[in-house]
Amino acid sequence: MKTSPVKAYGTKAPDADLQQMEISRRELTAGDVEIDIHYCGVCHSDLHFARNDWGMTQYPVVPGHEIVGTVKRVGEDVTRYSVGDLVAVGCLVDSCRTCDNCKKDLEQYCPEWVGTYGGYDKHLDTNTHGGYSETIVVDEAFVLRVPDNLDKAGIAPVLCAGITTWSPLRHWNVGKDSKVAVVGLGGLGHMAIKLADALGAHVTLFSRSKSKIEDAKALGADAVIISTDEAAMERAAGTFDLIIDTVPYAHDLNPYVATLNTNGTLVVVGYLGPLDPMLVTVPMIMGRKSVAGSLIGGIAETQELLDFCGKHNITSDVEVIPIQDINAAYERMLQSDVKYRFVIDMRSLKQ
Ligand code: NAP
Ligand code: ZN
Ligand code: ZN
Repeated sequence: MKTSPVKAYGTKAPDADLQQMEISRRELTAGDVEIDIHYCGVCHSDLHFARNDWGMTQYPVVPGHEIVGTVKRVGEDVTRYSVGDLVAVGCLVDSCRTCDNCKKDLEQYCPEWVGTYGGYDKHLDTNTHGGYSETIVVDEAFVLRVPDNLDKAGIAPVLCAGITTWSPLRHWNVGKDSKVAVVGLGGLGHMAIKLADALGAHVTLFSRSKSKIEDAKALGADAVIISTDEAAMERAAGTFDLIIDTVPYAHDLNPYVATLNTNGTLVVVGYLGPLDPMLVTVPMIMGRKSVAGSLIGGIAETQELLDFCGKHNITSDVEVIPIQDINAAYERMLQSDVKYRFVIDMRSLKQ
């Protein structure tokens, strides 16, 4: 298949910095949309993947799955989008479209789902490459429409940080009588607070950092509990209907399970791997509590969220950076030194 060379930023090894490289984008098939990328958010998953934290990375990697841009060209059968439309691409660019999960709009749980980066591009027989690049070519079924009343940089993180927290909020039916807690105030955590607040829930943040209390309240949290304050953790026993845990590394879930109400659920979205220390089942049994996981969200649910954000004027709090600052941004993200999401202005790649 014919391809076009495109400028991108990526890495060829787990311990190497990201640097400028050239990748190939496929020629448009009949159903494809070519997007000029304006902004791309920086997710902690980008860092995990670039550094092979999950042991499954194939190099080279071009991260980025919070993509906002405009339609540059469309294939001959494209009906939903026209040149110039403001569009977005999140974490998924394809799936089998026939399995039970696909039929239920749960493409993220399709056994053959294709990630925006690090997935398998059947057209080119290579890895897919993400949004730290000038353009991307995506089947129109995996392209999303962006409300035009929102800040374009601020909307980018909705495509991953937003949908990853929205999907559990919706699945566990969060509404105005719900008591929701969020563990960790980073990219996912700050979107979780904004979205749970917009759904009318009472929202509490668990954080390691006293310095984030004021910010959390400004974002919509009703209360903040410092997770190292054992007395405060004990006072919160039996409180929450849903806890969304966004912490990226192994940590003790047991103190959070204790703060769930009867029938409550702690949903892990942050950490992938074995728990250390292990879960103690007694409090779960005594209170019919659940510990669950959740992966991003489907295409229809992501569009639902973008439309919700348009209606409620919700965007992410972002620090816009040029792509040349990406390695420093990764180090700062590891230190939780960002309020609360880096977004790359991809026009900096043309410099
Ligand atoms: P982030 O911006 O770096 O935020 C993580 C937050 O976790 C920090 O701000 C910090 O908040 C807290 N934290 C607690 N212990 C930490 C530690 N040892 N090191 C760093 N942070 C710690 O990350 P993110 O982009 O929100 O992503 C969070 C995790 O979700 C990542 O592991 C990412 O891969 C994963 N993720 C999963 C999905 C999914 O579909 N399930 C989708 C996207 C991302 P405090 O300072 O308030 O404690
Ligand atoms: Zn992500
Ligand atoms: Zn499928």
